[in-house]
Amino acid sequence: MIKKDLLRKLPKIDELLKEDIVKDSLKDTMRTLVIDSLRASIDQYREYILEDEIQDFKKEDILSRFQEILETKKEPNLKGVINAVGVVIHTNLGRSILPEEAVKNVIEVTQNYNNLEYDLKKGERGSRYSHIEELIKKVTGAEAALVVNNNAAAVMLVLNTLCKDKEAIVSRGQLVEIGGSFRVPDVMVFSGAELVEVGTTNRTHLYDYENNINENTGVLLKVHTSNFKILGFTDDVPLEELVALGKEKSIPVIEDIGSGSLIDFSKYNFTYEPTVQESIKKGVDVVTFSGDKMLGGPQVGIIVGKKEFVDKMKKNQLTRALRIDKMILAALEGTMKYYLDEKEAVKKIPTLHMMLSSKDEHKKRAYKLKRKLKNKVGDFNFVVGEDYSMVGGGSMPIERIPTYVIKVKSNKYKPEELEVKLRKNKIPIIVRVANDEVIMDVRTMFDRDFDMVAETFAGL
Ligand SMILES: *Cc1c(COP(=O)(O)O)cnc(C)c1O
Repeated sequence: MIKKDLLRKLPKIDELLKEDIVKDSLKDTMRTLVIDSLRASIDQYREYILEDEIQDFKKEDILSRFQEILETKKEPNLKGVINAVGVVIHTNLGRSILPEEAVKNVIEVTQNYNNLEYDLKKGERGSRYSHIEELIKKVTGAEAALVVNNNAAAVMLVLNTLCKDKEAIVSRGQLVEIGGSFRVPDVMVFSGAELVEVGTTNRTHLYDYENNINENTGVLLKVHTSNFKILGFTDDVPLEELVALGKEKSIPVIEDIGSGSLIDFSKYNFTYEPTVQESIKKGVDVVTFSGDKMLGGPQVGIIVGKKEFVDKMKKNQLTRALRIDKMILAALEGTMKYYLDEKEAVKKIPTLHMMLSSKDEHKKRAYKLKRKLKNKVGDFNFVVGEDYSMVGGGSMPIERIPTYVIKVKSNKYKPEELEVKLRKNKIPIIVRVANDEVIMDVRTMFDRDFDMVAETFAGL
């Protein structure tokens, strides 16, 4: 058919609205979505005609494309994906997965009214922070605690409260940029604190801090360089010495510990990572950390430390702008509770379990997935192999966790093509491509996803 006739053959929306398929979809879908999808389908076919990609088409073709488009339009934009990358705290994939208890709490408080700011004992107005403060104090050993939107907000609130129009002394080796362009120097500007950089990139001594202290010094700040390591000829001031100096000069010592691990990972053969409890024990006045990194909970920034300082932050008007929602609070309580018993935490918090579970456990799981894949497939070759997972989230940047993966070879698709196909799946499967192979790390996948992954490959 010639182009002009083909274009004339394209149906009108009104005409398609009379079709049974379309009428059926109107029963349970908003009319605007249906109309948009019809229009998108017709537009696509117009494009095909103009680009000479088709010589003819049937009305059924347009209707079936309409159904596909409608399906994707009905899906939420933000949705679950399968992390087969092997990066446990993958910032692009939502960082930590919540433990079951936390999810249950979220559903409970969002489907019902709740006591968010109501004191049930007294029958009067209460504080949203009271629900979680005792628990955080118990787990960290701190005198007081406050939770805000994220760790960037926590650092900003701390500096704004304790160091506005004053100087914050920080080592040059700690002026870090964290993913998503959180830059320590920039956050300080917003907080109203003035940055005083001391020492050099690789070496900072106690006298560097000492020599820069004056009557306008607000805080001594230590930032955990989560996402990089300076190796070689380096020197950093031990926390104890910084704390002693702060005490001597009556200047609060603040530590942004970043990932905020609450358990000692070196017990599990990981590189040593400072814990929140230790910093509190060593006498740091205020410690801030993230909730969705190694803690394994929702996105929050937790501030713990001496009561006199945390009380000041609670009174800062900025706190109102940085406050957390009830869903987050419910999720955080559900996650934090596990830390009352480390064995429980390691078992029930997915981030911890994924990091600490043994290579052998994942070997079994890799073979389980392979068996499922084999049952369904002809065009692919699946090989179980050894590899390394990463912690991610800017935490433990050089830690490599031995794991098992499935390496996929295909005679149908190039690895890059297969990666796209899997990513564009209805439930997206995010994989790694390396050495001309698609690699799926089972450490960050759930057993409950295995059948779906096998079905996806069967349909490719
Ligand atoms: C990740 C990180 C932050 C930012 O924390 P968010 O919770 O992502 O806002 C700040 N400081 C350090 C040292 C970090 O590692």
